[in-house]
Amino acid sequence: MGKKRVHLDNYKKENKQKIFNVILETGKISRKNIAKQTALSSASVTLIVDELINEKYIKEIGTSPSTGGRSQKLLGVNRAMGCNISFLINESHIYAGNVTASLDVGNIVIRKVKHLPIEDILNVIVEIFSQFKKNNNISSVSIGVRLPESFKNSRVSISTSLSADFITVDEALRFMLGVPVIIERGVNFAALGEAHNRNQKENICFLDLDGEIQLGGVPSLPVEHVAHMKVADEGEICSCGKIGCLNTFVSSEQIIENLKTELNEPDLTWYLISEAYQDSSSNVSDVINKVSRYLGKGIVNISTLLSPSLFIIGGDISKLDKIEEKVEQNVRNFGYYELDDLEVQISNAGKNVFFIGGAKMFLLNVFKM
Ligand SMILES: [Zn+2]
Repeated sequence: MGKKRVHLDNYKKENKQKIFNVILETGKISRKNIAKQTALSSASVTLIVDELINEKYIKEIGTSPSTGGRSQKLLGVNRAMGCNISFLINESHIYAGNVTASLDVGNIVIRKVKHLPIEDILNVIVEIFSQFKKNNNISSVSIGVRLPESFKNSRVSISTSLSADFITVDEALRFMLGVPVIIERGVNFAALGEAHNRNQKENICFLDLDGEIQLGGVPSLPVEHVAHMKVADEGEICSCGKIGCLNTFVSSEQIIENLKTELNEPDLTWYLISEAYQDSSSNVSDVINKVSRYLGKGIVNISTLLSPSLFIIGGDISKLDKIEEKVEQNVRNFGYYELDDLEVQISNAGKNVFFIGGAKMFLLNVFKM
């Protein structure tokens, strides 16, 4: 008996999530159309929708224009369910954004955390959380990192009134924050955020060029080592000890390093690069053309395996005017005919896509937590 009960509970949770996700994705929708889109009976939809309204996840937000038949009440996400704080943690910084249930980004906080031990990083997270909590109702936290499993399972010592115990980061965060926490690859958050902003549901790749390059997607990708994809038999020695890795040609840091050497300009910044890039005769332009070529090769290799319909490039490279056309041209040159329809775009939303994606990933799984 006990086991059967668990199955039924899970089944109900899944349907609840299914209905909530349809409401989240459409913005506003009638009960009748929810039933159509989820293939659930209208009786189930009515029951679950009532429950979601009572629990303040959704609310009625107007009526549909009547088209012959009866006009219908429309349902949307209820902002009263509270905000999510999305964190993005990389080698040098923590970025945090406050995101409403309707996925609007409010305040943003940035802290330097270079060389800090994990205990101190957790303290920074708690400090930022408390700061946001003063003025907002915070109901969840999303944390984007490079390697979620190793981050979650690192052990930290926390002192309680009784003793100092070693627990996992995952446990420590839940204990210290007191709200549900989701920890994922940050670059998958970014892909989901871009998908949301562009109203495209899935089949998206997102390649982040800042730091060691990383690949994310919708649906989420587990690919960890795209930085070391081979695209040449020349170039700088990579952090992995080999040559020809994609990272040594296209990561933001490497682009700057390569240009510093090439131009003998130790103080080069992205601002100066984008200025010089406007002048198509400059050396900068030559170096960037090479970047576009290797980026094109990398995108073709990734897309041959994953067949996305949209490929988005993120990072400081977005500061370069018209880079998107150049990269796309190289994708056409290197890619086989099936990739002719692949769209390549540059992300211009900065860190906001990480925050939006983090909050959305939580909401899409809120009843499974
Ligand atoms: Zn490498």
